[in-house]
Amino acid sequence: MENLVALSIEEMTGLNYMCSCGKNHSVGIETIKVGNGVITKLPTVIKNYEGKKVFIIEDTHTYDVAGKKVEELLNNKFNVSKYIFTEEHLHPNELTLGRLLLEIPGDTSLIIAVGSGTINDISRFLSYKLGIPYVIVGTAPSMDGFASVVSPLIHDGVKVTYDAVYPLAIVCDIAIMKHAPMQMLQAGLGDILGKYTALADWHVANILNGEYFCSEVEKLVMSTLKKCEEAAAGVTSREAKTVENITEALILSGIAIGMVGASRPASGGEHYISHCFEMIFMNSGNNSKWLHGNTVGVGVGIVAYAYKYAKDIDINEVVKKGDYLHLDKNKWIQNIKDVFTISATNIIEFKQDSINFDEKERKDSMQKILTKWSDIIKICDVFVPEPTEIINTLKKAGAVWNPKDLGFSKEIFRKSFIAAKDMRNRYGILQLLEDIGKLDDAADYITNIYYK
Ligand SMILES: [Zn+2]
Ligand SMILES: [Zn+2]
Repeated sequence: MENLVALSIEEMTGLNYMCSCGKNHSVGIETIKVGNGVITKLPTVIKNYEGKKVFIIEDTHTYDVAGKKVEELLNNKFNVSKYIFTEEHLHPNELTLGRLLLEIPGDTSLIIAVGSGTINDISRFLSYKLGIPYVIVGTAPSMDGFASVVSPLIHDGVKVTYDAVYPLAIVCDIAIMKHAPMQMLQAGLGDILGKYTALADWHVANILNGEYFCSEVEKLVMSTLKKCEEAAAGVTSREAKTVENITEALILSGIAIGMVGASRPASGGEHYISHCFEMIFMNSGNNSKWLHGNTVGVGVGIVAYAYKYAKDIDINEVVKKGDYLHLDKNKWIQNIKDVFTISATNIIEFKQDSINFDEKERKDSMQKILTKWSDIIKICDVFVPEPTEIINTLKKAGAVWNPKDLGFSKEIFRKSFIAAKDMRNRYGILQLLEDIGKLDDAADYITNIYYK
């Protein structure tokens, strides 16, 4: 596809083509509407369901800002029923899902999720399980799950990602979204900035491990990312154009994941850091006020510093010294225990087999890294902005940027930086630094910048 970048988000629906990357990319969403006042188009968007049963899922807040209007618009021609969650902190767990199964009327033809975040995740999963299509009416540009095909749910207290389905349609009225709580707007921006380091990590995995890569999707994500970065100053004044750019980028992020069939274009080291922070909050019983995108935003600056650090490494010196040959397993385990406490055992079990503790294996891995080192440096140079640039963008939007402000002590931050990558089994700059024996040094370097 020559002009992927030139397509508007609304034009991306129904896309289906063979890409130069060798994969067929398709977007199975019928309609996307983003703009001022687009909520009034909802009856037309779902015209095929006229006269049928439509079930609205919302919470008290999203009912006030959008649900009421949705009902007004649909009441004449559709058979509308609804469930309004009243919980202050709604969790996507068994209880929430069970409640919806009890409330949804038989013969429902269409589900309408009014909200962002949990309302979305749970509606998407319900839609998938029941085989009833669903439509999203967004209320806040805070997360990139609008066009997602998976649902992160909490099962027996553990976050698990479940298969789900694309929405039939996404309707994001900017006149509504721009009045979302400020922290949600900032979180949306943070999640989008995360694409910088996600894309860079994807490149690294491609260069070193030959992992599948699509440069068209990469360009697409990069172009929307730049638009958001430029518009960041309009976050605090809730400028419509800024909110629109962020909303479109968040939708596109999900589309990009669907196109390549992996979360690579949307999530990398910055997300592992964010997940790690979230897990620390959860394990400490601290019902943190920070949203996913807020911690991702902080993570992007941190991982950008990791790239900056990597760029200045004299790899031949590292090889000559040979320190990289030894990775102390006990120290590795202890660090994970210090960070993840009650969840540590699971993480250690999950990760230990894919870490090279063996000298011979570490030597082989270094040989591979050596042959690709100049390509890796190029990624650091070309794809990752100066960390201060990212931090300034966050500051311009009034968003949190320093792990200190998330409440982490210097010591726990340093350990988290080292342990974050162990939550997943995917290659990126953080794993690379460990493979060359430089993760500890990088942790010192970065910790001293944030905690000076
Ligand atoms: Zn492709
Ligand atoms: Zn994210």
